[in-house]
Amino acid sequence: MNKILKKIINDTKTFANQGKVATYIPELSKMNKNISGIVTIDMNNNIYSAGDTDIKFTIQSMSNIVTLLLALMDHGEKVFDKVGKEPSGDPFNSLKRLTNKNTDKPYNPMINAGSITITSMIKADNKEERIARIINLIKDLTGNDNIEINMDVYNSELKTGDKNRSIAYFLKDKNIIECEVCDVLDTYFKQCSIEIDCFDLANIGATLANDGISTITNKRIIPSKYATIAKAFMFTCGMYDDSGEFAVEVGIPAKSGVSGGIFCAVPNKMGIGVLGPSLDEKGNSIVGIEMLKLLTKEKNLCIFN
Ligand code: GLN
Repeated sequence: MNKILKKIINDTKTFANQGKVATYIPELSKMNKNISGIVTIDMNNNIYSAGDTDIKFTIQSMSNIVTLLLALMDHGEKVFDKVGKEPSGDPFNSLKRLTNKNTDKPYNPMINAGSITITSMIKADNKEERIARIINLIKDLTGNDNIEINMDVYNSELKTGDKNRSIAYFLKDKNIIECEVCDVLDTYFKQCSIEIDCFDLANIGATLANDGISTITNKRIIPSKYATIAKAFMFTCGMYDDSGEFAVEVGIPAKSGVSGGIFCAVPNKMGIGVLGPSLDEKGNSIVGIEMLKLLTKEKNLCIFN
């Protein structure tokens, strides 16, 4: 398997030239667009890797799955009174549907509007406790106790996050979020700025692929039905407005972030974490998608085969 992954890294390197790193969060523009890494973890916790797997980067919207899981564990499926279940087909930070007076909730928990709403629902007495609960669940899902926030990225998001502020004030105006806008945004910017690596991503994927049970400790982290819901959203909405294309071309549940990471949960088979900071116009890792195309073909991972 390590050999296969090494070949995949080599065969996809040049795709980095076709995109660019995210610049709208200035700190992210410092990433080297030519690095790439891949890690897979199977249900017996066999770990395989190739490429630049020692690089740390921020989790960005891949955190949306973690916060969704927390909100589901706090409230059950009442979560969907406030957030829908449908792909939006719009860019992840679009305001378009939110400003439409007939829209009564964000389309799904994977777009920024849905994710900010989900974050507002996580039970906590204050914003410190809320982010601590998010970090703790990431520690459980990754089996990594050294999970921290990258404060440079957080400050960069704070400085340039006006689109997200606009989204949050619309949500507040429509009574979709009930707590203080500033507090919710602080948590949202912090959750996006949590640092992980490809191993952490593969572990999150492996836990979800394994029905919510950690492949490291064999302990249940997530109730089975919520692990299933998370994989459903990853499949239908995880790659932003490219989710349909990805479903046809790759065919596995996946969630991406603008740092260039993608994690995947192939049910009962494996978790995958990839990094490639060069993004396409939708905000997905170009090299990451190419790597996943090759791996799913080679290992016959498409969930419909
Ligand atoms: N922090 C980013 C934002 O709010 C996350 C977006 C993403 O990864 N798609 O814009």
